[in-house]
Amino acid sequence: MTATTVTDARLLATLKSSFGYYSFRPLQQEIMRCILHSQDVFVVMPTGAGKSLCYQLPALLQPGLTVVVSPLIALMKDQVDGLQEQGIAATYINSSLDQWEIARRQAAVARGELKLLYVAPERLTLDSFLGLLRSVKVAFFAIDEAHCISEWGHDFRPEYRQLRALRHIFPSAVFGAFTATATRRVEEDVRAQLGLQRAAGFRGSYDRPNLYYRVLPKKSAYKQLVEYLRERKGDSGIIYCLSRKGTEELATRLSVDGFSAAPYHAGLESNERRLRQEAFIRDDVQVMVATIAFGMGIDKPDVRFVVHYDLPKSLEGYYQESGRAGRDGEPSDCILFYTYGDAVKLRRFIDEKSSEKERQVALDQLQKIVKWAEGEGCRKRAFLAYFDEALAAHPDLCCDVCGTKTAKATSSSTRMDKRGGEAQHQALFDRLRALRKHIADERGVKAFVVFHDSMLKLMASELPITLRDLQQINGVGERKAAKYGNQFLTCIKQYLSETEARAESSSSERSLTRQTTVLLPPTIRTTLDLFERGRSVSEIAISRSFAVSTIEQHLVEAIGKGALTELERLVSAEKRRAIGAIMAEIGTELLKPVIDKLGDGYTYSELNYVRAFLTRKAPKGESHG
Ligand code: ADP
Ligand code: MG
Ligand code: ZN
Repeated sequence: MTATTVTDARLLATLKSSFGYYSFRPLQQEIMRCILHSQDVFVVMPTGAGKSLCYQLPALLQPGLTVVVSPLIALMKDQVDGLQEQGIAATYINSSLDQWEIARRQAAVARGELKLLYVAPERLTLDSFLGLLRSVKVAFFAIDEAHCISEWGHDFRPEYRQLRALRHIFPSAVFGAFTATATRRVEEDVRAQLGLQRAAGFRGSYDRPNLYYRVLPKKSAYKQLVEYLRERKGDSGIIYCLSRKGTEELATRLSVDGFSAAPYHAGLESNERRLRQEAFIRDDVQVMVATIAFGMGIDKPDVRFVVHYDLPKSLEGYYQESGRAGRDGEPSDCILFYTYGDAVKLRRFIDEKSSEKERQVALDQLQKIVKWAEGEGCRKRAFLAYFDEALAAHPDLCCDVCGTKTAKATSSSTRMDKRGGEAQHQALFDRLRALRKHIADERGVKAFVVFHDSMLKLMASELPITLRDLQQINGVGERKAAKYGNQFLTCIKQYLSETEARAESSSSERSLTRQTTVLLPPTIRTTLDLFERGRSVSEIAISRSFAVSTIEQHLVEAIGKGALTELERLVSAEKRRAIGAIMAEIGTELLKPVIDKLGDGYTYSELNYVRAFLTRKAPKGESHG
C-alpha cells in the first residue's frame, strides 16, 4: 500500500470542513498520522474520547474504502446518518436490511462510490461479500469494540473470531483495533488474534474530564432525586436501580410527580425494550429508570446525568455505567446514592453464590466499591488508581470531595460558569432543542445527528446571526450549516427580537440600553470593539478570518441596536445626508430604487449602514448628529 502524504494542515482543514471541529482531542492526530502512513494501530481510549473520528477522517483522505466492523447493529444507522448529514459517502450493510437494499448498497461499493462502509462481523464470513471487497480497494479495516474478540474481555462475541482471517485475505490493507476497555492481557490477546503484534499502541487516560462525581447519603433519596431532576429539566439521564421491581416503582413514582420517566429491564419483552430505548434516544422519554440491562450499545451522546439509586456491584461496573454520561464532552453528572445497608444487601446475594471462588471475587469487588464510596479522598484519583493510573492534571470538573475541600472555589465555580453561560439564554436553548427535535423527527434521524447539545449551547451563548457566524461554532461543518443553518438562525433572531421587544415594553430607558448591549452577540461585540479601536472593516475581516460582508453585517446589526452611532468612518456626512433624503422620500424597504436614484458612487454597504441607523432601536431621548 502506498503511503498517503497528508499534511497536518490538511487534516485540520478537513476536520473543520467535514466534521465542524476546530481541534483534535488527545491522541487523535497521532493515530491518524499512523493510519495515513499505512501503520497498523491499536487504540484504547475511554468512552467519548472520540475513537470514531480516528478512522472516519483518514477514510476521507485516502484512496479506497474504509471498512468499519462493529457488533452494534442498532447503532450503525445513527452513525451513518450522522456521516451522511455531513456530506460523507458512507453506508452500512447488515441483517436489518432486505436483500434488495443490500444488493443496491453492494453495487455502490462495487462502483467505488463509498468512502466508509459499516458492517457486522458476520458479514465478513460470507464468501460473496469477501469477493466484493476483494474486487475493490480496501484501504483500511477499523475493528471497533475490538475487545469482543477476546475471551478474556468482558464482552466476548464468538462471531468476532472470524476476523482472524482478514489479515491474510487483505494483506495490503491497514488495520486498526479500537476499544474503550482492554487490560494488558486482553490487549495481548486481541493483537495476537488480529495479527496486530506490530501495531502502534495508543492508550488514553481513563479520566473523563467532563464528568463530575458525587456520592450522596441515601437518606430521603427520593426527595433529593426530585430536587435534582427539577434542576435538570429537559436533560436526558439514566437512573440505575438494582432490581426490576425497583425500576418499575421508581419510574411510576417519578411519572406521577410529573417527570418523563420509563422503566427498562431484561424482564420486558424484546420489542418493548427496543421501543423504550428508541424513545429515550429520540428524547421522547427523558429519564430511563433501568437495571444494568440498559446501556450496552446505547450511544446517546447527550446523556447529562447517570444516577445510581442503589449501590453497584463493582467499581469497574460503576465506571462503565456512570461513563454513559457525557459522551459528547459536555459537563455531566454521576451521582451515587450510598448507604451501607445496600452493601449488606448485596452481601446477602453474594453469600448465595455457589462456588467459593465466585464468592471471593464478588466480595472483593464489593469491598472496593464500598471503600470508594466511603473514601475521603478525591474520587477520580481513587478511580484512576483502580486502573493503575495516576491523575495527571487536576480536572476542572472533579468530584464532591474536591468540591467541598480545596478545589471548591475552582471546581464548582468553573462548573457553574460553564453552565451559567447556557443559563443566560436557557429559553433560547430550549427553543433550539425543540427545533432540532422537530427537524430530526421529520427526517427520521436522531436529534444528535442534526446538532449536538454542545453546539446548541454554543448557539445560545454566542448568538450567531449569519451563516458564517454559525460555522464558527465548534462542531458545525459546512454541510450542516448549509442544510439547517437558516432555520436555526431564524430561531435565534426571532428570540432576540422578542426579548428586545419585551425589554422595550417593560423597562426604563436605562435598562433598555443595558439590555441592548447584553443582547449583542459576542461575535458582533468583538467586531465592534475592533472597529472602535480604529480598525477598518477589511482589517477586521482579515484578522478574524471572516468575509468582509460578514463584518459589514455585524456593524449593521450593531448600528441597528443603537450600539454604534458614529458612522463617519463608514459613510461620509455628505453621503449620509443624500441617502437619508432619498430614503425619507421612497422608504427603506428596498435598496435598489434608492441606489438607482443616487446614481454612481454609492455602495449597498453604505446604504445598509444608513438604513440601519435610520431604523435603529435607540433609547428615546438620545441625541445624535
Ligand atoms: P468513542 O467511540 O471513543 O466513545 P466517539 O467517537 O463516539 O467516542 O466520540 C464521542 C463524541 O466526541 C462524538 O460526539 C464526537 O462527535 C465528538 N468528538 C470527537 N472528536 C472530536 C473533536 N476533535 N472535537 C470535538 N468533538 C469531538
Ligand atoms: Mg465508539
Ligand atoms: Zn476529585
